[in-house]
Amino acid sequence: MSDEILPAITGEILTDDAALDRAGNDWGDLVHARPRLVVRPASVIDVAAVLRFAVARDIPVAARGAGHSPYGQGQAPGGIVLDMTSLPPRRTVTGEVVSVDAGARWRDVLDVTLPRGLTPPVLTDYLDVTVGGTLVIGGVGGAAHHHGVQTDTVVELEVVTGTGDVVTCSRDDDRELFDAMLGGLGQCGVITRACLRLVPAPARARRWKLYYDSLSAFLADQREVVRDGRFDYVEGQPLPVEGTWRYMIEAVAYYTPPASPDEETLLNSLSFLDAETSDTTYFDFLNRVAEAETLLRAEGSWFHPHPWIDTFLPDSAVEQVVTGTLAATGEAELGALGLILLYPVRADRLKTPLFKVPDGELVWLFSLLRTGSPVDPLHNARLVGLNVDLYRKVSALGGKAYPSTAVPRSTAEWREHFGSSWPLLAEAKARYSPKNLLNPGQGLRLPE
Ligand SMILES: Cc1cc2nc3c(=O)[nH]c(=O)nc-3n(C[C@H](O)[C@H](O)[C@H](O)COP(=O)(O)OP(=O)(O)OC[C@H]3O[C@@H](n4cnc5c(N)ncnc54)[C@H](O)[C@@H]3O)c2cc1C
Repeated sequence: MSDEILPAITGEILTDDAALDRAGNDWGDLVHARPRLVVRPASVIDVAAVLRFAVARDIPVAARGAGHSPYGQGQAPGGIVLDMTSLPPRRTVTGEVVSVDAGARWRDVLDVTLPRGLTPPVLTDYLDVTVGGTLVIGGVGGAAHHHGVQTDTVVELEVVTGTGDVVTCSRDDDRELFDAMLGGLGQCGVITRACLRLVPAPARARRWKLYYDSLSAFLADQREVVRDGRFDYVEGQPLPVEGTWRYMIEAVAYYTPPASPDEETLLNSLSFLDAETSDTTYFDFLNRVAEAETLLRAEGSWFHPHPWIDTFLPDSAVEQVVTGTLAATGEAELGALGLILLYPVRADRLKTPLFKVPDGELVWLFSLLRTGSPVDPLHNARLVGLNVDLYRKVSALGGKAYPSTAVPRSTAEWREHFGSSWPLLAEAKARYSPKNLLNPGQGLRLPE
């Protein structure tokens, strides 16, 4: 790849060490593979020109959103990284649909929808990941038990396929590509624009933190509130407290005054031991991780390695897996600022063919969000090893690992992950990106 044969584009081509180092790292800080070039496209035409250039020369290409992957998923060793955040903002609301460039962060989406009284129905806990980066994996949040994941809210996509063609696809047009892009790890193309369904935005959010000292009581109450849908948002966390574990349900009711949530009805029948209540604007609730981010940036651990694992457990195995995992997890494994998430989602709300969860009425997101060591790679390798052990255990029990996970995965494991939907992805990849050049950091190559 020399400068003479690079495609003529209107965006920027970067080859300086700072740009290559940045593109060769991510949130995980565990996999480091520099590309040869970073391209900051200024248009869809630039993206198509780069893909055609790369395909003709067998050069791997990765689209990069906010770079918040934990294990090199957005890296392109020796290839080209397309920095999707450089696409010019194209953000418009028409009726109850927003159209955004794929490099927009969910915060940017809210910037254009909230002034119109609208919101995406489900948001990630952290608003600074991009639309493209989450739509290729799913996009889970505390409202998923009502609305499914973010891929379930997509109306239309503009995609540059792995052969350099620009295609607009939806449920009605080019359905094969549409289904293969949502949750399809960016194997068939690069998303350049997405149209997303919106719902009316509430003004405020009242949040209850409900505390338990029994795992089974905590699980039973989560099952109940997710089944009856009494809250708008439900997540939960096991919390390490003085050498043991407590559990906390985070349950939120959205409202717009003069209406207000009826606390007695909402908390009726639940068996928590203590409760804390807070009330904020809807946006401040959605943006709650920003405060923690500021603190962690100042304290430094925001920049430390993050050997994170997110899994989905079948309801039948949740108590067994969580009990075993917590018994083996101390502060040394979690890291002082680590976090564990545990909450159920109703499987009947999940419609995206490539978003894979275990069988059953309820599935549990179980995430170990550990902070690694900035100076001890062996410790971090041990934590990735623990992830692999958990991944194997969960898989043996019918569970799945969410794609945004610090576990190296082979094509055979992806085939197993996608199960009955594998032909959908494999056939679309053979058609739209037969040279296996896109998003190589996901570890999926065809034929195996
Ligand atoms: C603090 C924090 C909180 C999080 N909370 C949640 C949460 O609540 N729910 C949840 O679901 N996830 C959550 N995540 C995980 C996060 O959503 C995923 O890791 C996501 O993939 C990161 O998006 P990104 O924009 O940083 O993408 P990147 O890390 O840059 O890329 C992710 C993958 O998408 C590909 N990609 C990126 N853009 C495109 C595109 N336009 N077209 C095709 N492929 C593309 C990349 O090649 C890569 O394979 C969180 C992550 C962090 C760090």
